[in-house]
Amino acid sequence: MDDVLIVGAGPVGLMLACELALAGVRPIVLDKRPEPSELPRANGLGGQIVDLLDHRGLLERFSAGSPFAGRPPGFPFGSVPLRFAGLADLPLRLLMIQQPRMERLLAERAEELGAEIRRGCEVLSLAQDEEGVTLELGDRRRMRARYVVGCDGGRSGVRREAGIGFPGTTDDEVLRLGHFATGADTGIFEALETDGLAPGWNRTPNGRLLLTSLQHGVLIAGVREKGAPGDGPVTPEDFRAAVRRVLGRDLPLGEPLWLSSTVAQARLAERYRAGRVFLAGDAAHLFPAGGSALNVGMTDAANLGWKLAAALRGRASEGLLDTYESERRPVAERALMQTRAQAVLDRLEGEDGAALRELLTEVFAFEEPLRHVAGLLHDSGVRYGPAHPLAGRYGPEAHPLVGRFVPDLALAGGRRVAELMREGRPVLLDLGGGATLDDDWIDVVRTRADDPPADALLIRPDGYVAWAGTDGLAEAAREWFNLTASPA
Ligand SMILES: Cc1cc2nc3c(=O)[nH]c(=O)nc-3n(C[C@H](O)[C@H](O)[C@H](O)COP(=O)(O)OP(=O)(O)OC[C@H]3O[C@@H](n4cnc5c(N)ncnc54)[C@H](O)[C@@H]3O)c2cc1C
Repeated sequence: MDDVLIVGAGPVGLMLACELALAGVRPIVLDKRPEPSELPRANGLGGQIVDLLDHRGLLERFSAGSPFAGRPPGFPFGSVPLRFAGLADLPLRLLMIQQPRMERLLAERAEELGAEIRRGCEVLSLAQDEEGVTLELGDRRRMRARYVVGCDGGRSGVRREAGIGFPGTTDDEVLRLGHFATGADTGIFEALETDGLAPGWNRTPNGRLLLTSLQHGVLIAGVREKGAPGDGPVTPEDFRAAVRRVLGRDLPLGEPLWLSSTVAQARLAERYRAGRVFLAGDAAHLFPAGGSALNVGMTDAANLGWKLAAALRGRASEGLLDTYESERRPVAERALMQTRAQAVLDRLEGEDGAALRELLTEVFAFEEPLRHVAGLLHDSGVRYGPAHPLAGRYGPEAHPLVGRFVPDLALAGGRRVAELMREGRPVLLDLGGGATLDDDWIDVVRTRADDPPADALLIRPDGYVAWAGTDGLAEAAREWFNLTASPA
């Protein structure tokens, strides 16, 4: 019997494979596509996933050739501009990277670490018992593993087979997207501007039109309109017709490189776990506005990876696997809330919509609301803990860093906390308090930091602080890492 079978080699399944392999498990990833997808879906990553890539030492690899990597000067929140310039300690980082390249890099890393990716393997059904889960594949073969994770996207068959509902709503607008080769014509935006159109979203009485570019020589155009046909292939003529309906005329967009259509959905799985089957990424949640799906999905994977690995090597404390849902579902709920709000802000037409967007533009000029929304985009503003099966003492009286992603403290010798997290192991960071643990899984690092936030921090493999302070380290190590030996 295998340890873990991951269904779906999209970004979330591949990220999970990397995290499991880093923790010493050799997962098998099954994907029905014979080849990796070349569909240009996401244009980048934003939020906590960028910090996590930094922890794993992957930022350089992922940002090579990127048109933008760093703290963004702004962000379009449902077409209300957020302006971050001047906001000190902005948590949010963006990394522009096309999804096919990101998937290639993740697959490369997963294989380097020892994961296996089998393409052309469609999963048809699953059945589980007390010991494991059996998958039936398209060629009638069966595979069996102790755990199965459905990272098989919004139409997840794993979710259906596990009997987990996916309630929510489907938008009544369709978005047609296209990438167009503009060749050497660098003046296309000037030409469009003289035509009365601006880069970004343009509103007309019949819908909205997006014009932007993220790489030299390629224009991205999008047409959003009500009542048009739903998902499906789009021909160049369909796209031209949509532009005409919304704008009332044709546009000289260039040679189409790729066209697609999508209908936004807002959905959240009723449960993230059914026995030995888990869901992550789009299989667990769909958000109706851009920018959050990969951040939430790939950080789901980081949360689940070390916990499954701990369960497989007998180091999971009672209830550890249940913390996957109790920690990650609230993150998706908050992401759903803010993306629903973005979708409405974007969609609301006429003077009412304009008034709401104007009001919020004014509100977001103040530091506190701006910081709040930046936090929502970064990690949903969720602190792990209170509703937690392991919550115990992690209530409001706990150190403020407990349940939060560890800050990237500057340590003695020019090191950073992120550099301690490369191996994906728990770290006891002793900043002068003399804390210690004797365990071959947990790295103990003794160092100094300017202005340390606590005497010591116990950091989980996914970068979250499990414990901070002076008292209670032994209990925290027992609860999170099933460490039975007393601290040395
Ligand atoms: C046009 C567009 C733009 C987007 N832009 C952004 C953006 O800028 N930022 C962002 O964060 N998100 C964006 N998204 C969303 C993002 O692409 C998805 O959230 C992301 O791909 C989800 O990753 P996943 O791994 O969960 O699922 P997927 O990427 O959907 O991967 C699922 C995989 O499972 C496989 N699979 C499915 N069923 C089976 C089966 N039965 N057996 C075996 N394999 C199976 C599929 O072949 C697929 O490879 C965008 C989406 C679209 C459509």
